[in-house]
Amino acid sequence: MTDTYLLNKNHLSFWLRRLKSTHELIAPVRDASGDIVLTEISQLHEIALDGPALMPSPKEFLLPQNEQLFCYSEEGIEEALNKRNRIIFGVRPCDVSAIGILDRFYLEQEEDTYYAARRRNTVIIAIACNQPDPTCFCLGLGTGPFLKTGFDLQLTDLGDRFVVEAGSDTGTALIRDFSHLFTESTPPDAEDMFEARLMSQSRFEKMINLEQVRKRISAGTVSNAFWDSVALRCFECGGCVYSCPVCTCFNVVDRPYTADSGKRFRIWDTCMFKGFSRMAGGAVPAQNMRERTKRWYHHKLVHWPEQFGTFGCVGCGRCAVACPGTIDMATVALQIKALENRKEK
Ligand code: SF4
Ligand code: SF4
Repeated sequence: MTDTYLLNKNHLSFWLRRLKSTHELIAPVRDASGDIVLTEISQLHEIALDGPALMPSPKEFLLPQNEQLFCYSEEGIEEALNKRNRIIFGVRPCDVSAIGILDRFYLEQEEDTYYAARRRNTVIIAIACNQPDPTCFCLGLGTGPFLKTGFDLQLTDLGDRFVVEAGSDTGTALIRDFSHLFTESTPPDAEDMFEARLMSQSRFEKMINLEQVRKRISAGTVSNAFWDSVALRCFECGGCVYSCPVCTCFNVVDRPYTADSGKRFRIWDTCMFKGFSRMAGGAVPAQNMRERTKRWYHHKLVHWPEQFGTFGCVGCGRCAVACPGTIDMATVALQIKALENRKEK
């Protein structure tokens, strides 16, 4: 067998049902308001594959917004490690890329025990994007709309069938264990997949070169007046950070129940909030909104590439949907690029 297989769509629900019998299955579902959300499913017919699941991003299942780390008492400390076997099905390629960035942050430096426990027991089954949203810009970053690595399995929809690519031993095992459902793909399938991918690329409305923006910010040529104009439109709602599949910041809080017992939690935090950088003694280094908005863009576009060789953005477009001030990553990057163009003339 090769690393590329075919799955007839008629076999998809049977395969998923079998996987669900051994794993917690997380997949896109249409909720009561019509939005497609990523959640643990109880019934296979709930799965909705006719649009991207924006909220929450898969990050929620690896680094939950509110997570108990441990409880403590006179008897000692009991860690709350989540080691359940899980499959996240229908992950967009940009979100697979985001998970790769989270892995570097939470596993490659000092390993985070809680993240590691979840990640090691989570299988990622991606579906390549045939129909990008108007807010998507992964194409210019190389983080989508389909990938060569990073997933356990990647499915490409060819109408009546999926081409299934295995990207890990775990992924290969999920095919090998159900080999009666899969066939080897043929050269015409490869041609159809190539065509589907070309069509997907042609549908992108945004092509953004963040490297040009990074160079301009690094050179210190984006003025404080520009950052002031961005900050003026920020409501400090935190939507950009909370919706971002890449943002990694968190706070830790203790909830004591008695004098010698309680629980410790980790909750997402956002650098857009004034209190984020408050220090012992009460000093707040990033006092004004300009410093805070500037810091978010600097962190994602300058510091992440310096530290990890990759941007802290995968072009998923969620911040464009979330931001009431229209100062999302794509908009601000294009504005910085426009400043550059005006300067060049
Ligand atoms: S910065 Fe915006 S576009 Fe980039 S990954 Fe985060 S939410 Fe998506
Ligand atoms: S979503 Fe927009 S308005 Fe809200 S904190 Fe982020 S930049 Fe500010």
